[in-house]
Amino acid sequence: MSLLYDVLIVGGGPAGVACALMCKRHGLSHLLLESGKAAFQGIAHSYPAGKLVYPTIPKDASEPFLVEELRPPEEPVTVEEYLRKVQEVVRQGGLNIQTETSLQDIHEERGVLTVRTDRESYRARKVILAFGCNIPRELTVYGDAKMVAKGLDDVEKYIGIKTLVIGGGNSAADVIISILRAKREANDSTPVFWAHRAETFRVNKETAQRLGEEILLGGNIRLLPGAIPRIGEVDSQGMERLVIRINIFEQPDGIDLYHALSFPMQNVIACIGSQGPGPIFERLGIQLITCTGGVCKIGKEGERLALLTAEFESTRRGIHIIGGAISPSFMRISEGAIVEEKHPNLIYTALNDAWHAVEAIRRKLNG
Ligand SMILES: Cc1cc2nc3c(=O)[nH]c(=O)nc-3n(C[C@H](O)[C@H](O)[C@H](O)COP(=O)(O)OP(=O)(O)OC[C@H]3O[C@@H](n4cnc5c(N)ncnc54)[C@H](O)[C@@H]3O)c2cc1C
Repeated sequence: MSLLYDVLIVGGGPAGVACALMCKRHGLSHLLLESGKAAFQGIAHSYPAGKLVYPTIPKDASEPFLVEELRPPEEPVTVEEYLRKVQEVVRQGGLNIQTETSLQDIHEERGVLTVRTDRESYRARKVILAFGCNIPRELTVYGDAKMVAKGLDDVEKYIGIKTLVIGGGNSAADVIISILRAKREANDSTPVFWAHRAETFRVNKETAQRLGEEILLGGNIRLLPGAIPRIGEVDSQGMERLVIRINIFEQPDGIDLYHALSFPMQNVIACIGSQGPGPIFERLGIQLITCTGGVCKIGKEGERLALLTAEFESTRRGIHIIGGAISPSFMRISEGAIVEEKHPNLIYTALNDAWHAVEAIRRKLNG
């Protein structure tokens, strides 16, 4: 029988890592599951290079930062510097982290929660869901495209190979800039293909300037506007490939002609945006409340918000939800009533939620 952890944490961003630190501090056994290659993958993927990280505290907050180790410095530092500091905290903290593992579902039997992942199953007395709000969208094609990366984990991987980046916005552009820079520094002239299903790419001025700079410094980029990923297939050598249609010529006889490129899936990165955690909550059977008839001030009409206690416990007993996953608001059960609670998506909120959730769990487990 596998180990029974006191707390199993899903998601290794500020909220999840803060939970692991708190568990360690209180002597609770824990395991943190992170889908990316390292802790704080969400931030590493979503912040543009060089972005400053601010230690923002909401105006109406009554508490200071409660997990000081992960607090962004008062004098803002770049995301790279903040990530270095965090990795040091993770290393020194002796946290129990399992990377490249993604949550699938959770079963309960006689008070024990079994968390099924894409690798194996783990058992825990309590679960904290801290997977943030940026759940990368999956590429939908005929066949399977699971091998396609959803962000840039390790830029070195793309040196010396023709790379395809899919997506038309800033996050795709940021990934391309990083790859072009790494290729330039390694004297590698292999191209980066940039595909987008629309005819125009939409990036902000600052990103466009950085991209332009890389191109002028020799970056080899091939634009593929109007390109549509179609098929995930395995070739005769057993390699998984993504076929992307780059143009179509409609013929009067109805037999259309089109051109397509086929890339090894390991050369492809899809930056096609993210979706909220709603579909995961539904899959896990977390009760959601629909904002209707002007009930919500922050949630939009028709939006479905997680229903939680003041200690962030959901209606599935033993499962808590914290951090960006419940921003910008959730429904709180308060003295018999259900009220919408504002929950800004900030590092401060993620850290302080973690403190409160683990504190509540500690009290419960210690009887
Ligand atoms: C561009 C940008 C700039 C920002 N700047 C600031 C700032 O300056 N100051 C500030 O306070 N806040 C800032 N924020 C907000 C801040 O980053 C978030 O509030 C914070 O990261 C939320 O932390 P979290 O741990 O809840 O979620 P995340 O940081 O999103 O972490 C969630 C983690 O869970 C992992 N995960 C997802 N799904 C699964 C799964 N199924 N199984 C296992 N793991 C999973 C992800 O890989 C990720 O590592 C910014 C946000 C963005 C997008």
